[in-house]
Amino acid sequence: MQNNHHKEHLYKILVIGDLGVGKTSIIKRYVHHNFSPNYRATIGVDFALKVLNWDQETVRLQLWDIAGQERFGNMTRVYYREAMGAFIVFDVTRPASFDAVTKWKEDLDSKLTLSNGKHIATVLLANKCDQGRDVLTNNGIKMEQFCQENGFVGWFETSAKENINIDEAANCLVKHIIASE
Ligand code: GDP
Ligand code: MG
Repeated sequence: MQNNHHKEHLYKILVIGDLGVGKTSIIKRYVHHNFSPNYRATIGVDFALKVLNWDQETVRLQLWDIAGQERFGNMTRVYYREAMGAFIVFDVTRPASFDAVTKWKEDLDSKLTLSNGKHIATVLLANKCDQGRDVLTNNGIKMEQFCQENGFVGWFETSAKENINIDEAANCLVKHIIASE
């Protein structure tokens, strides 16, 4: 059925975080519905497109996967340019990858501001929750408070392997992007 008021949105979404936390796997799970346990470092910049029906509208998410450059712990302004949302990912089995989260957030916010002066909506992903060894509970980190203090709109325990909470996290991000437009 044709709808004259049908709106389309295209959003550039960044997926950042330390090497090996599962960024590529999360994108693969979300977009291609599969998972491979074999480690393969991404080379270059990868894009994947996810199309969502959102109420009466179409939302296209262009997911940007950083590719080897995460070794340096920061990205160029050019890479961040015109992004509308971000996932910052850490690995619940590796405390150092959680320590890096605030560095990634600072790098992002220092290099990218929306035209309204705000920072882009960012969701925190605690990935590999299927592994059980949860650095957060072990260290008594209060995630709600951490998100408030560090400017995350939400957080999710995810597993690319078991397909846990990835759709939910993406919906949360899209909701916040649309609300801020
Ligand atoms: P990236 O460097 O952040 O892109 O990380 P990758 O997506 O390449 O994943 C690094 C390794 O972690 C690979 O061996 C993946 O199979 C594994 N991995 C990614 N996500 C998960 C997950 O949710 N659970 C488990 N158990 N392993 C995962
Ligand atoms: Mg990768």
